[in-house]
Amino acid sequence: MDQPATPNSFRTGPDEQGMFGIFGGRFVAETLMPLILDLERHWNEVKNDPDFKAELTNLSTHYAGRPSKLYFAEGLTKHLGGAKVYFKREDLNHTGSHKINNCLGQILLAKRMGKKRIIAETGAGQHGVAAATVAARFGFPCVVYMGATDVARQSPNVFRMKLLGAEVRPVTAGHGTLKDAMNEALRDWVTNVEDTYYLIGTAAGPHPYPELVRDFQSVIGIEARAQILEQEGRLPDTIIAAVGGGSNAIGLFHPFLDDKDVRIIGIEAGGRGLDGIEHCASMNAGAPGVLHGNRTYLLQNADGQILDGHSISAGLDYPGVGPEHSWLRDSGRVEYVPILDDEALEAFKLTTRVEGIIPALESAHAIAHAVKIVPAMDKDQIVIVNLSGRGDKDVHTVASMLGMEI
Ligand SMILES: *Cc1c(COP(=O)(O)O)cnc(C)c1O
Repeated sequence: MDQPATPNSFRTGPDEQGMFGIFGGRFVAETLMPLILDLERHWNEVKNDPDFKAELTNLSTHYAGRPSKLYFAEGLTKHLGGAKVYFKREDLNHTGSHKINNCLGQILLAKRMGKKRIIAETGAGQHGVAAATVAARFGFPCVVYMGATDVARQSPNVFRMKLLGAEVRPVTAGHGTLKDAMNEALRDWVTNVEDTYYLIGTAAGPHPYPELVRDFQSVIGIEARAQILEQEGRLPDTIIAAVGGGSNAIGLFHPFLDDKDVRIIGIEAGGRGLDGIEHCASMNAGAPGVLHGNRTYLLQNADGQILDGHSISAGLDYPGVGPEHSWLRDSGRVEYVPILDDEALEAFKLTTRVEGIIPALESAHAIAHAVKIVPAMDKDQIVIVNLSGRGDKDVHTVASMLGMEI
């Protein structure tokens, strides 16, 4: 059987073919295979290399600001009147989210590989900004592919990328959104085999990307696990994170996967509800298929056409999900639950008022689920929510949702 019902460990994947059970792999054009294999060879070399680790740790500490704090959210805890809520403060990182963890790791890998040029794809622009940031820091020219629709919707991030020295290439194919930008980046990669490194923004894509992005983001869970043991003397009862492509979530979850008593919940964008197509809940309302070089749960219609998702938070509207999440879903180790736009907006407002923290709308989805379950939990129980990013970028969206002008 591909997938034993109860594996001894949930932390050993992927296998040598890059599979997590029936998910993952590398479904790419023949011409891309040498590139992927070259990347895999270098990744296998650096992942246990003490010099590489030391350089990454040094940058994570002094450039990105790690370790991020594990903060007892006392105001929210009092307000909800149940379990103690902690926030893992990825919002405090340089560039305002967890995305810098992955970008620092990959830019060092690109340097090791002797690459001369960085390409990236971005939807909301957050990954584009993080990629342009590390490219500026290391002196790489950087091209960011971005759907033309997104370029128009996310002008402040487009401007940031340009300030950082990146070239933003609008993609007009398809609906001009993230999926089209990813296809265009893959195309660029094939045509510029020799000198180009493709810096993928989430735990998706062909093997070994899901694994390497997960490992770079696992610093979140490794720190959180040590911090809660230090602060509370025990593991949490529940951990929660929002899932777009799934990088901040797998980063928090992975170090806890074999702690059987820790309940793990991933939050999908429920948008305006799962009945129609205005959501991004690929694991609750999608079906397995192949996209961006891997097999995973996808939003698709009956003919297998990939659908554009919808979410109040642009960072969650990727029509697929990283393959490891698909496997964790089917194996039952992690629960995946949708949260609606309105529920996320309420959690955004609540957190801002009772904690003095403006969370990213993505993170507000995770908080919204805590708001639902915490009141029914005991006061001595512990919930950790991944605060994946800060919400300054979202104030215009929130204002228009509230019918206000800035
Ligand atoms: C991009 C982003 C996400 C979603 O991406 P993942 O790969 O699922 O983590 C979540 N939160 C914030 C703040 C983001 O910028």
